[in-house]
Amino acid sequence: MDLKLQDKVILISGGAKGIGGAIAQGLIEEGGIPVLIDPSEKEGDAMVRQAKGRALQVKIRLYSPEDALHAVQEACKAFGRIDGLVNNAGSNDGVGLENGRPTAFVASVAKNLNHYYFLAHYALPELKKSKGAIVNISSKTALTGQGNTSGYVAAKGAQLALTREWAVELLPYSIRVNAIVPAEVYTPMYEAWIKSFSRPEEKLAEINRKIPLDNRMTTPEEIASMALFLLSEKASHITGQHLVVDGGYTHLDRSL
Ligand code: NAP
Repeated sequence: MDLKLQDKVILISGGAKGIGGAIAQGLIEEGGIPVLIDPSEKEGDAMVRQAKGRALQVKIRLYSPEDALHAVQEACKAFGRIDGLVNNAGSNDGVGLENGRPTAFVASVAKNLNHYYFLAHYALPELKKSKGAIVNISSKTALTGQGNTSGYVAAKGAQLALTREWAVELLPYSIRVNAIVPAEVYTPMYEAWIKSFSRPEEKLAEINRKIPLDNRMTTPEEIASMALFLLSEKASHITGQHLVVDGGYTHLDRSL
């Protein structure tokens, strides 16, 4: 299937590694042009080098509206257009109800949620011109809870709500908005979390056993395949959807 993503300029927050990195890599392979908004120098530099100029890294950690505006302006300056946005950057920072503090909760929501809105807001004039698409990366924790991570889960739930909200608001411009809901994906963030257990290998094997399809984690590339499809014109009548890509982890029978 030709996704027709050649020359499409796609903003990807957190695009230098992990899930965002796999989406950027997949886009390069399809002939598209990723704009990585991510501070990770080593991984970003390697990807831009490999893409031979058909990629750009904006080396910032998104937080403020000005950060998002700067990223959009850099993309437009370099390539003159924006065809899509993948809101992906985030981290599960463990600010719980009992163990957290109100100030930490507010900071966690701000850091995981606000830049999704800021990027969509500032990219919108370009997305209107290109009839582009938006993909929001959420998390199964928005559907299942996790415990001890109120800020992150509040942000992830809000991302699913905003996916529907923006899908409705942007109907007049034929801009499609969808969310991907991953569960267990072995990325640098996941690896760091697993290593926080006293017996990481046992913990990993225990989680793998609970994933119905093939008893393994979803790969970043499997999330990327869904993201690239949703960005492409092959998904031309899909909007406002929450696509759960997780080997059946969230919804299949617990007794499996
Ligand atoms: P990851 O391995 O940490 O990769 C994320 C990348 O984004 C890193 O390069 C990180 O840089 C960068 N980043 C983080 N915050 C940023 C910000 N504010 N502005 C710009 N760049 C930022 O994470 P991942 O596992 O791929 O997660 C990506 C998304 O998937 C997140 O939204 C996460 O909630 C979601 N998700 C992941 C899983 C999973 O199992 N991995 C499951 C459900 C949902 P630094 O390393 O320097 O921070």
